[in-house]
This record gives sequence, C-alpha cells and structure tokens, in this order.
Amino acid sequence: MQETLKKLSERTPLFWLNPDYGKVEEQLPLDMADILDAEARLMRFAPLLAELFDEAAEGYGVIESELLDIPVLAEKLLPGAKILLKADHDLPVAGSVKARGGIYNVLCFAEQICLEKGVLSPGDNYRKIADKEIRALLGKYTVSVGSTGNLGLSIGTISAALGFKARVHMSSDAKEWKKQLLRSRGVEVIEYDGDYSTAVAQGRKESESDPYSYFVDDENSMELFLGYAVAALRLKAQLIQRKLLPTPEKPLFVYLPCGVGGAPGGICFGLKMLFSDAVHCFFAEPVDAPCMTLGLVTGKNDAVSVYDIGLSNRTSADGLAVGRPSAFVGKLMKGLLAGCFTMQDDILDVYQKLTRETENLKIEPSAAAGFPGPQEVMKSGFCEKYNISPENITHILWTTGGRYLPENT
Ligand SMILES: *Cc1c(COP(=O)(O)O)cnc(C)c1O
Repeated sequence: MQETLKKLSERTPLFWLNPDYGKVEEQLPLDMADILDAEARLMRFAPLLAELFDEAAEGYGVIESELLDIPVLAEKLLPGAKILLKADHDLPVAGSVKARGGIYNVLCFAEQICLEKGVLSPGDNYRKIADKEIRALLGKYTVSVGSTGNLGLSIGTISAALGFKARVHMSSDAKEWKKQLLRSRGVEVIEYDGDYSTAVAQGRKESESDPYSYFVDDENSMELFLGYAVAALRLKAQLIQRKLLPTPEKPLFVYLPCGVGGAPGGICFGLKMLFSDAVHCFFAEPVDAPCMTLGLVTGKNDAVSVYDIGLSNRTSADGLAVGRPSAFVGKLMKGLLAGCFTMQDDILDVYQKLTRETENLKIEPSAAAGFPGPQEVMKSGFCEKYNISPENITHILWTTGGRYLPENT
C-alpha cells in the first residue's frame, strides 16, 4: 500500500490490482431485483420520454447507446486485441453516461409525487404526465443538483422538460458551453468558485431548507446508482446479438472512467450481478483526481480526499474532477472491482484526437480515460493471476461523454 500511495501522491500513473477482488460479502445492500425494478420503471416512462424529446423518439423512449466495432482505433491501442466501444458519449438527451442515472433519479421523484397525489395510478400510460394539470403540479417543486457539468446537464434537462423548476450548482470545473446549453434549456445555473464537493454541499444545504425542493445527491443516491446499473442489462442484449456472451474462460474486461464513482460503480455492479466471474471491471482516473483509487487503496473510502495527499484535483477531464469519492460506492466495490488505473491529462487529449481521426467519434477528454486500459492490464499480471488467455478477452472501452461537445473544442 505504501508504494501505491507514494505513486498516487507523486502523480505517477499506476495500475492497481484490488487485493480484495472476489471477496464479496454475502449480503450486499442491493441486488438483481433492484436493477430489474429500475429497468421496469424506465420502460413505464419510455412513451413519455419519446414524446418529450425528439432525440429519444428514435428508440421509442429508451435512451441507449450503441456497442461499436472500432477496428482502426483498436489496432493502435493494443494490436491484435478484440476491443469494442460502448458509446455512452453519444447517449441522447444528456450527451453523457449521466443520461442513465440522472434521468432515472428524476423520474423516480416524479413518479413518487404523481402516485402520492393520486394523479397517476399504477398501470396508467405515463404519457399522461405531460398533461397540463400534472405539469402544473410538478412545477411546484424544485429539483437541484451539484455538478462538474454533465450531471447538471442530465438532471437539469429532464427536470425542466417535466415541468419542475431546475437549479444546477456548478463547480469551477464546469465548461462554459455546458452552462450555456443548460440555460438554453430553461435551467437556472448557479456558479461556484469551489470544486465539485463545494457545489454539492451548497446545493444540499439550500435544498434542505425548502420542503418543495428535491436534491439529487450524487455522493449518496441509490436511485442514481441503479439507473446506471441498468446499462448492464442493455449491454447483455447487445452481446447476445453479437453472440459474444462472456464466460470465465472468454471474459469481458471493461474500462470505466470514474469521478465520484456512481456511474462506473453502478455499471460494474450491474455487470457483476449478470456475469459474475465472466466480467472484470477497471476504473480509470486522472493522476490529479484519483479519489476512488485512493479511497480503495487506503480502505478509507470517503473519509480521505485527494487534497489530503497533496493533489490539486485540477484536470482537463472535467467529468472526473472529484476529490472525494461517494460515501457508499467504494464499500460496495471492495469485492467487485478488479482494479484501478491512473493517467496524465495529456494522453487524454491524444486519445480524444485519435478517436476522432480513426473512428470519427466525438468524445470529451474524460471519456478517453479508459483507453490505456487494454495495454496496461496486460502488463499488470492480472491475466497470469486469474489464468486468462489474452486472446480470449473482449475489451470494452466505455466512452462517457461528448455528444454536445462544440466543434471547436
Ligand atoms: C460523471 C462522469 C463520469 C464518471 O461518473 P461518476 O459517477 O462521477 O463516477 C465519467 N465520464 C464523464 C464524461 C462524466 O461526466
């Protein structure tokens, strides 16, 4: 641990294998039934989403991304390897992985109000929620969130579309174009000088004093987490289509950019529930903001921040600029996560450009964080330890944001 901590504090890129991997507690706080419940809720809302957003109409209100072949890029990353790309950078409506958890969390809140107030009954067509009376009811409530950018885009967009008042507390990392896009969608954006945790704390505090205010708490929300976890069911369907269902001998290796941990944690949780030993997940973080790695390596989870080891939390990967991990994801990942790795910002820019040149995909720097994964895992000793033949691995790079990235960035 001392050696890993030294590398973390010196900003040396590392690949850390989790010594507790596989030691899963018997009773996890969430299970498969929770993921299926989330998927069922998303299906109930699909007709409404198709009506509210042109971009969602194409998938009949199911917001999903493609699983892509990337032959040219793959050959550059790890020659001879089988590498696919899960294109969450292109998710409709929110333009990032936050479309999964963020939209789902707000739908939970809307459903709860409608059922409690008796304007919606189980079995109704949820398209009804767009009616004037229900919109007016929802308009009495404010939904707020603290964000480095993309969560705000997701929560703000869905909240405003449902008729809620929407307030997004943005950290200093948030890009100007994300704030402008949100304002154009009718969302109030409040800017802070501080980092992500400051924006979250401010939003939480403000919301507490208002009974008609609901705060989406990225550091603690189970709903967000379960919305992300649904991705695993969707990926499974795509793998079946390709006749690529994994087995322990022919496993999936999945590389997930990590900020506070909700998105990659939810996806990892879902994948482990479905595929168990046939999937291995790795989290990717910038050397300046490796909060989840630090929490796992020390076992301190959210009781330690990157500032405590002298790091700045300043990174061009704005979606990953988080100094302190989620309060519960680290604990849940203890036995489920295969490992973590870190990288310097400059290679994110290189991979971002390479992705555009080779496959014509538009991703933001944060979304490229997983790209060193396939090559680095080969040097890590993981395959030897678990007796996996490299030629049997299907690698999946999870790209997490970029759809609305302006052309000149
Ligand atoms: C938020 C985000 C992540 C990571 O999600 P967390 O839940 O913060 O860990 C990864 N990539 C992008 C582009 C993001 O916006």
